[in-house]
Amino acid sequence: NLSEKLERSFKLLKGQGKISEINIAETLKDVRRALLDADVNYKTAKSFTEGVKAKALGSDVLNAVQPGQMMVKIVHDELAQLMGGESVDIDISGKPAVILMAGLQGSGKTTHSGKLAHLLKNKKGKKPLLVAGDVYRPAAINQLQVLGEQIGVDVYTEEGNNDPVKLSKDGVKHAKANGHDVVIVDTAGRLAIDEQMMKEIAAIKNAVTPHEILFVVDAMTGQDAVNTAKEFNDKLNFDGVILTKLDGDTRGGAALSIRSVVEKPIKFVGMGEKMEALDVFHPSRMADRILGMGDIVSLVERAQEQYDVDEARKLQKKIAKNQFSFNDFLSQIQQIKKMGNLKDLAGMIPGMGKALKNMDFDDDAFKGIEAIIYSMTPEERENPAVLNGSRRKRIAIGSGTNIQEVNRLIKQFDDTRKVMRMMTQGKNMGRMMQNMP
Ligand code: GDP
Ligand code: MG
Repeated sequence: NLSEKLERSFKLLKGQGKISEINIAETLKDVRRALLDADVNYKTAKSFTEGVKAKALGSDVLNAVQPGQMMVKIVHDELAQLMGGESVDIDISGKPAVILMAGLQGSGKTTHSGKLAHLLKNKKGKKPLLVAGDVYRPAAINQLQVLGEQIGVDVYTEEGNNDPVKLSKDGVKHAKANGHDVVIVDTAGRLAIDEQMMKEIAAIKNAVTPHEILFVVDAMTGQDAVNTAKEFNDKLNFDGVILTKLDGDTRGGAALSIRSVVEKPIKFVGMGEKMEALDVFHPSRMADRILGMGDIVSLVERAQEQYDVDEARKLQKKIAKNQFSFNDFLSQIQQIKKMGNLKDLAGMIPGMGKALKNMDFDDDAFKGIEAIIYSMTPEERENPAVLNGSRRKRIAIGSGTNIQEVNRLIKQFDDTRKVMRMMTQGKNMGRMMQNMP
């Protein structure tokens, strides 16, 4: 990945005094190529590398012990800076605060209306109202109702009303009358930008004067995301961006391009289909991700929200000492179920997405797992190394499973241990980066 490449090419320079234009050229080419690979648009990548070059050449910091790491740090900080440097909050001070969701069909508006309501309810103690402004498709209204039910948030609909402008206005009125302090208006989108859609969303904007217009965009659409962002911004002058589907293989370069082309902050990132899978956007972490380090900090943060903190700390010690046992595993199963889709999380660990994808972690799999672990003796649970063939056979019979399933679980357990150890190590790595001079 990019950070490794940078370190490698700059190792050569160690002890050679200042970085010169000649020995930096090759590295900058690597940087530019990696940015293009990460879906950053050409113009952004070019001006970016120029900025890095100026910084690198001008800094005697590069005489430092580890010019390679220093270079990674310069690139990292420059990336973060380009994405705004700091996180930017949404404005929910209105009474009620009105949030308008805009974007193409399939970008994730409805899903993220739900996620946002969930977050505001649970983290900010708000009483949101979801407004089903995608009036044309019954399925879309139903989708929002199902989400509302799931997260315990009211959804405003009007039978037979196919005027989204009027419906949105009524929705805000309804919110005022019923003590809702945030209104989130979900809207319809087309597969491509068209006049009709743009007129409609502009009319909704005029009717409800939102405090916050959020442009929702699928990070996996790469370069298209930038063009769409530009057109929506020209029409709506939106306040912020929600970058969705970052749980996929995309590196997130769209974040960089969008930010630099429309000059609006990215406020949230969507990391999966579950209602919990919404993170505040952190430029520095996105820079890590673009550099190929994986978004370890977000991962740990999300895991910690679900875990009891003390418990997590104890666990971390055990993991580090490789003492994580089947008993811990058992008690984590419940937690893991709560954490949302494990595969969503896996994508954030560098290099680990693939390994975890091969593991079965659906709910049915948990049943078998639990039965098998219950059939182990306490000693076996604490010290899985003793699980020889005859013990495995006994456990298979005891749990009503078979030897293959038992073997598979033990293999999965070992894999999980490895992943967990990597997580703790990865986190330290991220910290090291941040503490660099
Ligand atoms: P809308 O047409 O803009 O309202 O888009 P939807 O909210 O209906 O989302 C379209 C599809 O993308 C649905 O299948 C969602 O479950 C899925 N989706 C939305 N956000 C995410 C995300 O962050 N990650 C993943 N993996 N899928 C998402
Ligand atoms: Mg929708």
